[in-house]
Amino acid sequence: MSFDYDLFVIGGGSGGVRAARIAASEGEAKVALAEESRMGGTCVIRGCVPKKLMVFASGYPAAIDAARQYGWQVKSGAFDWPAFRDHLHNELDRLEQIYRDNLTRAGVEIFDCRAVIVDPHTVKLADGKTCTARHILVATGGHVSFPEGPEGVELGISSNDVFHLEELPKRLLIIGGGYIACEFACIFNGLGTHVTQYYRGAQILRGFDDEARGLIAEAMTDKGIELHLGTNIIEIEQHDEGIWVKSSNGREAVFDKVMLATGRAPNTSDIGLEEAGVELGRKGEIVVDEFSQTNVPSIFAVGDVTNRINLTPVAIREGHAFADTVFGGKQTPVDHELVPSAIFTQPEYGAVGQTEEQAAENHKIEVYCTSFRPMQTAFIDKPERVLFKLIVDQETRKVLGCHIVADGAGELIQLAGIAIKMGATKEDFDRTVAVHPTISEELVTMRTPMRTA
Ligand code: NDP
Repeated sequence: MSFDYDLFVIGGGSGGVRAARIAASEGEAKVALAEESRMGGTCVIRGCVPKKLMVFASGYPAAIDAARQYGWQVKSGAFDWPAFRDHLHNELDRLEQIYRDNLTRAGVEIFDCRAVIVDPHTVKLADGKTCTARHILVATGGHVSFPEGPEGVELGISSNDVFHLEELPKRLLIIGGGYIACEFACIFNGLGTHVTQYYRGAQILRGFDDEARGLIAEAMTDKGIELHLGTNIIEIEQHDEGIWVKSSNGREAVFDKVMLATGRAPNTSDIGLEEAGVELGRKGEIVVDEFSQTNVPSIFAVGDVTNRINLTPVAIREGHAFADTVFGGKQTPVDHELVPSAIFTQPEYGAVGQTEEQAAENHKIEVYCTSFRPMQTAFIDKPERVLFKLIVDQETRKVLGCHIVADGAGELIQLAGIAIKMGATKEDFDRTVAVHPTISEELVTMRTPMRTA
């Protein structure tokens, strides 16, 4: 049977674009890709990239304050949000164009519209045209998910809206305690907004290392974020003076904006998956095997739509591995073990491997840990502390997890991640000579376990 294309990709985010490019350029496949929104997907257009630029912008007031204490005669001026925002959007336009050019250069045909699966080998475009393909790759990502209640929740904004604000809110309430909530709490706090954060649980960043979570929460509070744990919203109303919010701790307060960062859900509705017989999981995610293949042999899925590890570099790996497997003649399962990641709070958090709590469940462990005031900020009497932590298997001596809370932790954990992925033992770390004076030298100088479990 002949098809219009060897591969039809639905979704132009990180995973879909990588798969399309590799299939077309290295696999010499005839490839089409449909994207209904902007090329680049969540990461480039409304996620990691604009967020990180805002992280940079928000760090300057503290840097200027530190410069002054180091002897520089400087003072911070006002932040010109519209100027920054317009610059940001120009940058996103530039990056989107690069994604588009890379696809075109690889020979991928682009359809700027929605595509829906009709059957295991056919997709229908928004204009009614149908295309057949030997393989279909679903890389439609995810979307912001708001809680169903309470009443008035629609008055809230999401992380998607943040990059388009007309003006910076003076009083912002953030709901949630995950990556997005904590990162934006720190960003807006750095930009001068008064930030209040409500999190329903006992400590922010559930699932991460307890000690690291505690230190980040403490640092966020020290920097002026009003963090209310065990607190959720009950009622939201638009009043003349702002958005009135009643919360579960009995508090009533008024904010200029309320941002909900209560999680994301896979984009699997109304794209023909059920009709084609594709199995979905409990959260609506597409169920795939280690080769990203669904139960329908011609249909594959990569990235957030599969809800495995929802990170851009993982989606890229999955897209590349799919193209290698299906078009490159190399069976490539995706390795989801020991994926390093960072949370761009202030201070940052970098983690790879298991938390102390996870490791203690299945291993006899030694915990090497140090928390101290770094030279750079201790000099100007800042209270900020950093944390370096290694979790070591007592029997194999392998480092099972590394957790760093410090400025630049995202950069540091990438390097620690290489050693740990290679199976480094604690003694391998110890054999490495320290780089002095740095904060990360602690990684190779911690001699005595803080505790065992
Ligand atoms: P998360 O799942 O990390 O956090 C959602 C938060 O909302 C949790 O604190 C959760 O509480 C809370 N929540 C969920 N439902 C409700 C509710 N009904 N009422 C009140 N609170 C609620 O999602 P995010 O949106 O922060 O991030 C989505 C994904 O994006 C992440 O999983 C991550 O993979 C990715 N991401 C990665 C980044 C990075 O690598 N730096 C940055 C940003 C996003 P509870 O803990 O109790 O469930």
